[in-house]
Amino acid sequence: MTIKTVGIIGAGTMGNGIAQACAVAGFAVVMVDVSDAAVGRGMATISASLERLIKKEKMSAADRDAVLARIRGSTQQADLKACEIVIEAATENLELKIKLLKAVAALVGPEVILASNTSSISITRLAVETGRADKFIGMHFFNPVPLMALVELIRGLQTSDETHGKVEALARKLGKTPITVKNNPGFVVNRILCPMINEAIFALAEGLATAEEIDTGMKLGCNHPIGPLALADMIGLDTLLAVMGVFYEGFNDSKYRPAPLLKEMVDAGFLGRKTGRGFYNYP
Ligand code: NAD
Repeated sequence: MTIKTVGIIGAGTMGNGIAQACAVAGFAVVMVDVSDAAVGRGMATISASLERLIKKEKMSAADRDAVLARIRGSTQQADLKACEIVIEAATENLELKIKLLKAVAALVGPEVILASNTSSISITRLAVETGRADKFIGMHFFNPVPLMALVELIRGLQTSDETHGKVEALARKLGKTPITVKNNPGFVVNRILCPMINEAIFALAEGLATAEEIDTGMKLGCNHPIGPLALADMIGLDTLLAVMGVFYEGFNDSKYRPAPLLKEMVDAGFLGRKTGRGFYNYP
């Protein structure tokens, strides 16, 4: 079955980014969210993103119109029936994802591939709920999707080679570079990145150096484009704490204990850029 139409559940940060990437690559897209307002916000974000490409002379107005014409926003799950693959990118909540995946599995044909963009939920766990574990896979995009080249493909215990192959080909058609990862907490990138940031927070709390010095050290010493503490502020300290919690629980290993300073910052409501204060101030 050739993939022509991609269904996306969720029109938020990730959903609209995935929709844009698919439509730019020539796929028809059905993007479903709960309300007209949420769908409208997703479509507006895509329009603004394409507008920036036009300004940079990376896209023509005609191409923008063609891309937008390929995306159908909807509040009706039934519209996903037209799709050969459905990528779930709704809010990170296990019960919600189970409910959505069960409903979609009951709606679409048995040959349709289902994928999830979850950052922290077990792909093997979600796969079981779809009744087609062999046709279920994790497709973990990075934010902002139109700009970030990587997609982690997470194979659940029962994901078939055929499903993996089709989704790998899809990722390449989107212009992305896929890497394949076994299902485990944090997959690969977050598994390495988040403990590194957590360690930077320990270093700050121990007074080894200032936040600026720690970030300068990692930028100039390791060629990172952004320091770990500035990156923590971008990700959101609450999100980072939640991820460390998933590792701590998932591996039953104390090496993933969240830095006490991270917990305290979250308790204080200093969540990073989104609240105007984290390890740096954002007036
Ligand atoms: P978001 O809050 O921006 O968007 C989630 C969207 O899901 C919202 O628009 C919400 O209305 C919608 N939604 C909720 N219930 C729904 C339902 N029943 N049907 C359809 N839509 C529904 O969140 P996000 O950042 O886009 O995250 C989405 C997923 O992507 C999560 O699983 C998250 O872990 C994962 N993810 C996020 C990032 C990131 O950097 N933000 C990166 C990789 C993966």
